[in-house]
Amino acid sequence: MSFSELGLRADIAAKCEQMGFTEPTPIQQQAIPIVLRGGDVIGTAQTGTGKTAAFLLPILQKFEKKPGRGLRVLVLAPTRELANQIEVECRKFAPKGITCAAIIGGSGYGKQIQSLERGVNILIATPGRLIDFMEQGMVNFSGLTTLVLDEADRMLDMGFLPAIKRIVKAVPKERQTLFFSATMSPEMEAIAMQIVRDPEFVSVGSRGKAAHTIEQFAYPVAQQHKMPLLLELLKIEPFERVLVFTRTKRGADRLATVLERWDHRSNRIHGDRSQSQREAALRSFKTGRTNILVATDVAARGIDIDSVSHVINYDIPEVPEDYVHRIGRTGRAGNTGRAITLVTAADELTMRAIERLTGQAVERVHLPNFGGEQVRPAAPVKSYRSFGRGRRRR
Ligand code: ADP
Ligand code: MG
Repeated sequence: MSFSELGLRADIAAKCEQMGFTEPTPIQQQAIPIVLRGGDVIGTAQTGTGKTAAFLLPILQKFEKKPGRGLRVLVLAPTRELANQIEVECRKFAPKGITCAAIIGGSGYGKQIQSLERGVNILIATPGRLIDFMEQGMVNFSGLTTLVLDEADRMLDMGFLPAIKRIVKAVPKERQTLFFSATMSPEMEAIAMQIVRDPEFVSVGSRGKAAHTIEQFAYPVAQQHKMPLLLELLKIEPFERVLVFTRTKRGADRLATVLERWDHRSNRIHGDRSQSQREAALRSFKTGRTNILVATDVAARGIDIDSVSHVINYDIPEVPEDYVHRIGRTGRAGNTGRAITLVTAADELTMRAIERLTGQAVERVHLPNFGGEQVRPAAPVKSYRSFGRGRRRR
C-alpha cells in the first residue's frame, strides 16, 4: 500500500517519501480516503502511530491551487508543544501558497496577531489562547471548512471542554470535523458525537493498548530507595535517550538537580517553565546535548522525538490512561523502546489497574538492595481481558 494508492496527489506522496514515510501507517490507510471524500472521522489509535499526517495530508490536498488569504482549517491541540509539532509537520508538507501558524499560550502575542491579520489558511491552536483572540474579535471563522480536534482525550482531561464547546459554536455548522484521540471512553464518544456529523469510526489496535514495540518492566522498590534505583537503572540500562516522568513539577526539579549532581546530562520540562525554557530543553534533548529529560505528564504530551529509547516512570501515573500516553513516547515509528516503572507497595494497585487497561502483564524485576524484596510480588497476571469495561469493538 502506497500513499498514492490512498488517493494522495503525486506531489504530496513524494513529500512523504522525502520525509522517510515509506508506507502509510494503519490509521493513515484508514483515515486518509475518508477525509479526502469529505467525511467526518472519529479516529482512535495509540500514540506514535502517525495520526498527525493522517489528517494533515488529505486536508492539504483538498486546498485549491492558490487558496489566497483566509482561515480554512482549525486544528485544536491540548499543549503548546503539540501545537508546535503539528505546525512543523504542516510546514513540511504544505504545498507552496498554503499558510499555517500556531496560536499558543505562553508565548508573545505579536507574531500570532500578525498571523491572524495576514489571514493564514491553517491555524493550529491551544484552546485557551484561541478563545483569548476570539474574545478580542480577532478570529474570522466565516470561511472555515475543516475542524480538527487532536488528542481530544487529553484536551478533555485538561478541562478544555467548555472552551471546545465555545469554539465549536463559533465555527460554521457546515464543515468537516475530524476527531482524533489515543483513547476513547464512552463519555468522550458521547461528546465527540455532538461535534461530528455522520462520522466514520476508525480504530487501530484496541483502545488503551500500548504499542507492541515497547517492552515493559516494573521494578518494585521501597519509597526511600527510588532515587538510588533510578541512578542504578541509568547505569545498567543501555539508553540512548530517556524520558523520566515525575508526578509533580517540584518532583521534576528535584530529580533534575540530583541527576546533575551525578553528572548526568539532563534537563526538565514542566508547566512552570517558560516557553523558551521548555523549547531549549526539548532542543538539547533532540540534538543529544542532553540525554535525560525529566517531565511531568502535561508538559510531555505530544513530545515526539525519535529514538527515545527509554521511558522511566519515576512516579507511577495517577490515572492508568496516562501510562499509555507516557510509554507511547518510546517505540515510535517502528523503533523499539523500553518502559520501566518504579512501583512502591502503595503503587501496586495502580500498577494492576494499568495492566487491566492495557490487557498486558508487566514483568516484575526484583533488584536486590532497593527494598523491593519487601514488596509483595504481584500475583501472576494472565489475561485481564475478561475484566474489560465492555468496550465496543468495531
Ligand atoms: P500520533 O499523533 O499518533 O502520536 P505522530 O503523528 O506524532 O503520532 O507520528 C509519530 C511519528 O511517526 C512522527 O515522528 C512521524 O513523523 C512519524 N510517522 C508518521 N507517519 C509515518 C509513516 N507513514 N512512516 C514513517 N513514519 C511516520
Ligand atoms: Mg498526535
